[in-house]
Amino acid sequence: MNIIFLGAPGSGKGTQAAMLAGELNIPAISTGEVLRKEVEQQSEIGKLAKSYMNSGQLVPDEVVVGIIKNRIIEADCQKGFILDGFPRNMNQAIVLDEMLFSLNKKIEIVFNFEVGEDVLIKRISGRFSCKGCGTVYNRYFKIPTKEGICDNCGFDHFESRSDDNEATVKNRLEVYHKSTFELIGYYEKKNLLLSVDAVKSAPLVFKDLIEVTSKLSSQNN
Ligand SMILES: [Zn+2]
Repeated sequence: MNIIFLGAPGSGKGTQAAMLAGELNIPAISTGEVLRKEVEQQSEIGKLAKSYMNSGQLVPDEVVVGIIKNRIIEADCQKGFILDGFPRNMNQAIVLDEMLFSLNKKIEIVFNFEVGEDVLIKRISGRFSCKGCGTVYNRYFKIPTKEGICDNCGFDHFESRSDDNEATVKNRLEVYHKSTFELIGYYEKKNLLLSVDAVKSAPLVFKDLIEVTSKLSSQNN
């Protein structure tokens, strides 16, 4: 099954993609990761991507999709794959569709993780972690049992990312919604879009994903 996961930062899609990949025994592909790998291996396309990065430019969609193609033709993707957070805009979606068509493949479902903006802002801006062991907390949803002391290691120093403040998070979400607005309509028209109520707890969201995918795979067989 070939799946796309769409969702704003803080929607939990990355975690769910990894979990579903494990369950379905297919890889979850993150474009950042595959891009890094090709650059490290100094493959032809990796070098091309690097040349754009070195000159401070965005790697063109065609190059990114070429890198995804290299990953998708590997043996472990023959049963399917999850694209985690790609495409992010219309042009990428079109280039992706053309590439998949050339491989005689297509996307079968697009999960759109929906979480209200207020929750997303709290999820991201409330985040802090233990300086000792890295355990992640949230000042709205998950604080240490004993105030100021890490549950896991007992350390009393915490840190948060400076770009996780409310204003920058709002800005990131705005950029995300602007670029994906059209994309969501595109997959909706193709009848591939499935909204996921990602406000729910992670186990409940996962249950929904399992239900949908098992239904879909029984239809296909
Ligand atoms: Zn700790």
